Amino acid sequence: MKKITIAIDGPSGSGKSTVANMVAQKLGILYLNTGALYRAIGIKAYRLGLTVNQVHEIEKYLQDITIDVRYHNGNQYTYLNGKDVTQYLKGEIADTYSAAVSDCLPVREKILEIQRKIATQMSVVMEGRDIGSVVLPNAPYKFFITASLAIRAKRRFLEYQSKGIQMTLQEVEEGLKERDEKDEHRKHSPLIIPKDAIIIHTDEKSVEEIVHEIILYVRGK
Ligand code: C5P
Repeated sequence: MKKITIAIDGPSGSGKSTVANMVAQKLGILYLNTGALYRAIGIKAYRLGLTVNQVHEIEKYLQDITIDVRYHNGNQYTYLNGKDVTQYLKGEIADTYSAAVSDCLPVREKILEIQRKIATQMSVVMEGRDIGSVVLPNAPYKFFITASLAIRAKRRFLEYQSKGIQMTLQEVEEGLKERDEKDEHRKHSPLIIPKDAIIIHTDEKSVEEIVHEIILYVRGK
């Protein structure tokens, strides 16, 4: 089978992870959630005792940090220096620290290398914020998945409720707004719509419809 590279970007809560994962499953290829790599380095910064304002100091430790991903039953597990840290990648600490480390250029360069290595070795659906613009600018298939802030907040709120996370809809919406600000105004590799990406607004579409749309496009090209 010919190697396929699909780049999927979009803001927090747009549903891109779910969509990217399903597209990869349907095509029988790897799914890489790149946010998990930033989250793993964010967790390392936290464990080193750095405050959010000190996270740039993580640069001094990068040469001793190894990040890799492994797959069991189609699920991605993220390893930090050989230890599975997947269970620590959700929640407020990981959210805050991953957003902070994602603005450090050496961190981005380290993760860039991991991402590109995977994409040269195998077919992949890679999902993040800068995949189509920076990581894989020559990817033949690029999608930008987005939704209005209100819809993204509602979806995230329902997800949190199902997981027993106590947050009001307003708090969730404010958190997303703050992360949008950070993603769009980050100095290095901010969230942009790659000019050759297909934009998919998901406000009025189900996950299945979006996955179908992407698969049709990929198979038809
Ligand atoms: O997608 P997720 O919310 O897990 O990403 C965690 C953090 O990593 C976010 O702050 C996001 O901005 C950052 N990130 C990034 N580039 C990517 C993927 C995620 O800067 N390709």
